[in-house]
Amino acid sequence: MTAILEVDELSSGYGPVPVLRDVTFEVPTGTVTAILGANGAGKTTLLRTLSGLLRPTTGRVRFDGEDLRGVPVERLVRRGLAHVPEGRGVVAELTVEENLRLGGLWRRDRADARRAQDEVYQLFDPLARRRRHAGHQLSGGERQMLALGRALIARPRLLLLDEPSLGLAPRVSGQIMTLLRQLCDGSGLTVLLVEQNVRSALGIADQGVVMSLGRVVMATPAAQLRDDEQLRHAYLGF
Ligand code: ATP
Repeated sequence: MTAILEVDELSSGYGPVPVLRDVTFEVPTGTVTAILGANGAGKTTLLRTLSGLLRPTTGRVRFDGEDLRGVPVERLVRRGLAHVPEGRGVVAELTVEENLRLGGLWRRDRADARRAQDEVYQLFDPLARRRRHAGHQLSGGERQMLALGRALIARPRLLLLDEPSLGLAPRVSGQIMTLLRQLCDGSGLTVLLVEQNVRSALGIADQGVVMSLGRVVMATPAAQLRDDEQLRHAYLGF
């Protein structure tokens, strides 16, 4: 299976403060990879480095075979990499429709951007019903749907998702997980998922990457983490 993302000996941090240390793993195309680990392990920092928001100090990231060093964020988006950050980034003053349009602003093919918007409304029924509501009027689940929908309008090939189920009712978070799995199976999307809810992430993941103190301590098929109680105790604490 080809890897859409190859991360090789990657280190990064904030100014002089190192966080990631020699992080190495691969993400096969069309799969879900869950990044797991305790608070402060470096999961968010990893996503920020992969999406170009933080500059690596050493190491290499290849996206679809291309070395990402020095590639501007805008070009990464055009190449098909989308990042939905923690906190979701929905613009509270804009309506659902306006937020979604932001996701398609840079698209040259206006007709396809509109088609993608209709698809998002089909995927997320509550958004279709509330398209003229402002971001601040939405529930937590609806805001998460909107953030995800806005990213999908760019028709990404690789989606980096930070804590998509944070603060959501288990039923809504379950729906979002199921949808992510369907998108991977149906349209070849690849998902890299940071998730505190380890059980629900492992429920849809193909691969689990366990981080501790800025390092990868294990990258293994998710089934192994689901089935092997000793492994779960040792690395995930449950
Ligand atoms: P969490 O689940 O709590 O978000 P995480 O695994 O995503 O944890 P990070 O947010 O990547 O971990 O944080 C890793 C380390 O980097 C922590 O020690 C944190 O204090 C530090 N850190 C995070 N953001 C910054 C920042 N903007 N400036 C300096 N240090 C930071």
